[in-house]
Amino acid sequence: MTLTETAPARTALPQHVPVAVVGGGQAGLSISWHLVQRGVEHVVLERATVAHEWVDARWDTFCLVTPNWQCQLPGWPYRGDDPDGFMLRDEIVDYVRSYAASFDPPVHEGVAVTRLSPAAEGGYTLATSAGEVHADQVVLAVGGYHLPVVPPYATALPERIAQLHSQQYRNPGQLPEGDVLVVGTGQSGAQIAEDLHLAGRRVHLAVGSAPRIARRYRGRDVVAWLHDLGHYDMPVEQHRDGEAARVGTNHYVTGRDGGRDIDLRTFATQGMQLYGTLTGVRDGVLRFAPDLTAHLDRADAVDDSAKDLIDRHIAAHGIDAPVEPRYVPVWAPAEDPSALDAAAIGSVVWAIGFRADWSWVKVPVFDGAGYPTHVRGVTAAPGLFVLGLPWLHTWGSGRFSGIARDAEFVADRITDLTAAGTRTGLGSALAVAAASSASRVA
Ligand SMILES: Cc1cc2nc3c(=O)[nH]c(=O)nc-3n(C[C@H](O)[C@H](O)[C@H](O)COP(=O)(O)OP(=O)(O)OC[C@H]3O[C@@H](n4cnc5c(N)ncnc54)[C@H](O)[C@@H]3O)c2cc1C
Repeated sequence: MTLTETAPARTALPQHVPVAVVGGGQAGLSISWHLVQRGVEHVVLERATVAHEWVDARWDTFCLVTPNWQCQLPGWPYRGDDPDGFMLRDEIVDYVRSYAASFDPPVHEGVAVTRLSPAAEGGYTLATSAGEVHADQVVLAVGGYHLPVVPPYATALPERIAQLHSQQYRNPGQLPEGDVLVVGTGQSGAQIAEDLHLAGRRVHLAVGSAPRIARRYRGRDVVAWLHDLGHYDMPVEQHRDGEAARVGTNHYVTGRDGGRDIDLRTFATQGMQLYGTLTGVRDGVLRFAPDLTAHLDRADAVDDSAKDLIDRHIAAHGIDAPVEPRYVPVWAPAEDPSALDAAAIGSVVWAIGFRADWSWVKVPVFDGAGYPTHVRGVTAAPGLFVLGLPWLHTWGSGRFSGIARDAEFVADRITDLTAAGTRTGLGSALAVAAASSASRVA
């Protein structure tokens, strides 16, 4: 069910609006909630429907990896009876859509913004599928997963082999009979490989460099320990990888069936075929780098280092927590496999991530890699903000747990500019934005 099916159709888009929010996912709704609280007139422009990414880009057995208590949308904390559980896909959709219904944000569904450019008179012009809109300030809340990545050598695979991206994967029945190759072991790849494996499909898995983390350790969910350790409040500047954390791969673990580890070594003992990084296809043969052993070992090392942190925290605070033995690898490859005959497989699921597409944003705020430069979502262009990107400010910025803090920060900047009585494009507006973001970051 979409918001437009439950709410009366909005009136036509205004030609001018103080604030335009692009994107009606959880980030767009969160900033809208803060703007409603502050009485700031705005619109939310959503090309499809509210929360549709959770409907259209997730598989049937999808569930959160983060525990429900971390769902902390502003004004809408998780209220269910299973805070330590992991919402299933339809429950997530319900959570986000009932949030929208709770405060009736001014969302215009089915309105795609096709171009954003500075307006001559100050502010921004948004070319949309429903006509042109001028906005003094704009928040880009368009998510961090724009275009699915499929490698160029995918075209070298025989036509007989069905190929889809993790975003298109729904269930094992969707794939033709025969073995399946899953490429990538981030959260999506590892969980899709498990989904196929549990359905009795023979899976070949190209293991990447993603780290893994245990679901539970010493009597609690690891997320709960990391929360107590302050991990989720750490700003990106303090992360050991700095801003590179923004493009890092997520740890693999699952919330399925109440939550458990994903142990690729155990899968191997049950018949899953593991390989290292897929490097290409030549003469009908898929080639892999000799890095399977290294990737499995590194994933275990990351898991171990998180447990070290937890042990130190428990010791330092004298916490009474059960002692738990460390993980002992249950399998290791005799040698790193280098090849797989394409004749052995009937389908491929590409789970190697997404790339950004900001080509429609014609404002000079992007770095050489095409990433919007910003400090806590405040770009150098007066009145232009980004929200909801992974590690925009903290670990939770691109997730349910940290979006409230980021949305509040951006809403404050928006009201600062509004209170200064400025129209964007004026030097004073930039000064206010820069000064106030610098003071908050400090
Ligand atoms: C596989 C996967 C698993 C995840 N698991 C978890 C988890 O367990 N826990 C957790 O907290 N987070 C998780 N996340 C991360 C995060 O919660 C989601 O990515 C979430 O959808 C981000 O919300 P968002 O509003 O920032 O972006 P999105 O949900 O992507 O919403 C952006 C919206 O902008 C719209 N849009 C884009 N461009 C335009 C345009 N030009 N004009 C108009 N509208 C536009 C889109 O249609 C979309 O509705 C997961 C993400 C993925 C991909």
